[in-house]
Amino acid sequence: MIVRVLLLIVAVGLIVRAVWRLVLGIAEGAGSGGRERGTIGRGVPMVRDPVCGTFVVQSRALTAQIGDRVEYFCSERCLNERRTKH
Ligand SMILES: [Zn+2]
Repeated sequence: MIVRVLLLIVAVGLIVRAVWRLVLGIAEGAGSGGRERGTIGRGVPMVRDPVCGTFVVQSRALTAQIGDRVEYFCSERCLNERRTKH
């Protein structure tokens, strides 16, 4: 009987932990869109917009070949600004 109770407690503990992790994951996913500036996420490659200095997730950044290197931009506005300056 006691073993059963213990198993139940362990099972509930595992479920709570799983749910908690899920909730944290959702909160993180929803919050990442609004975050900006220097928040370098775990394993997510971040690049810096040379025009306004904002950090952008590399996969979402706009890219442009400037001279012999590729630069990353947060928006078309910054990209155009960089291009016209050059
Ligand atoms: Zn920018």
